[in-house]
Amino acid sequence: MAPVIDIADARALVLQHCGVLPPVSMPFRAAIGTVLAAEVVAGEDVPPFANSAVDGYAVRAESVQAAPVELPVVAEVAAGAFTDHVLQPGEAIRIMTGAPVPDGTDAVVMVEDTERLDGGTRVRVLKPVDAGSAVRAAGDDVRTGTALYPAGTLITPAVAAVLASVNAAVVSVVPRVRVAVLSTGDELVDDGGPLAPGQIRESNRTMLHGLVHDAGCEAVDLGIVRDDEAVLETVLREAARTCDAIVTSGGVSMGDYDVVKAVLSRIAEMHWMQIAIKPAKPFAFGLLDDGAGRRVPVFGLPGNPVSSLVSFELLARPALRQMAGMPQPARPWVSAVADHGLGRRPDGKVHYQRVVAAFGDDGRVHVQSVGAQGSHQLAATSMANAIAELPDGDGVAAGGTVRTMLLWVV
Ligand code: AMP
Ligand code: MG
Repeated sequence: MAPVIDIADARALVLQHCGVLPPVSMPFRAAIGTVLAAEVVAGEDVPPFANSAVDGYAVRAESVQAAPVELPVVAEVAAGAFTDHVLQPGEAIRIMTGAPVPDGTDAVVMVEDTERLDGGTRVRVLKPVDAGSAVRAAGDDVRTGTALYPAGTLITPAVAAVLASVNAAVVSVVPRVRVAVLSTGDELVDDGGPLAPGQIRESNRTMLHGLVHDAGCEAVDLGIVRDDEAVLETVLREAARTCDAIVTSGGVSMGDYDVVKAVLSRIAEMHWMQIAIKPAKPFAFGLLDDGAGRRVPVFGLPGNPVSSLVSFELLARPALRQMAGMPQPARPWVSAVADHGLGRRPDGKVHYQRVVAAFGDDGRVHVQSVGAQGSHQLAATSMANAIAELPDGDGVAAGGTVRTMLLWVV
């Protein structure tokens, strides 16, 4: 039997074998959610030319110091247009937001501070403006040649938009991690028909598919695999050939039909673990050769749905995000207030209770148990948005603090 190990040691072992994937080139829009593999240097100024921040009138500030004053409107320039008229003292040019300011301009008066006269051929400027007012200089946002983003930057939608603005059309990124997800067990069905005696409806794959996707990876659904060694071996080898990581559910404990264990022991370099935690004590991690020398991480999660979720969160998620080069692979952990006692008995294990976390009026995160904590009771756990860590002992009293991993905050 595998020795019992601490969660910290299990996680360290996993992370040590899950290196960042080699970079690929990708158009910036497709790259949202990935991480830059190389620095991006701005190849262009943003904005590319001095332009107006408002709809109004381009002037020389000196021409309107004595406002209210009337000026002739000698030209008009819309966004996307251009005028080669060089603005003279005592003149105004009608201008729209984003239009290039004509040469000779040093300020724009916003339309709200003007009155249109004579069908637009003249304007009354009601207030003086300072030089530079409402003019956005070329390069005000980004200057050509500046180091915009270092390698390791997560490409958020806003970062992708900045890449678009400097025409960094293709960027070098760590690719999305392709993760094969499969369930094992002869009892599992997903055809929607009536259940035969002993059958249950397969549910972990749906959850793991979603969790993999939420981790920023691409999930590849390999379906339910029967408890049949030959079939499972074929599916696993194919998964190693086509994916960057494999997540299996079921078949990693001590049962007679734990075929994942039988097959992976034979074809992969595996670590069969009994982790001193509850739930999710059995866990397997290893590396499966893809047939060409690439070693693909395999995460063997237990079949009990709650255990599957907890071991994915504690072990697989940070590893997959590390492979994706994420600057912050781990979920945030906070010191939360237990709104009521979170009970447990000493048993040599760290317990991970599923809780609902919310910010209280004191600005701290408060947690309450979701109720049923059995490893088969996913319905209660499905309401959790956080996992509270209870060290070996008697639990945490009401009002006490508990280290808590936030899945999301409502
Ligand atoms: P195992 O880890 O294969 O021994 O399974 C442990 C428990 O989890 C058993 O009650 C299984 O029926 C259940 N189980 C395993 N895989 C799944 C799954 N994909 N969906 C729902 N329940 C499962
Ligand atoms: Mg099974």
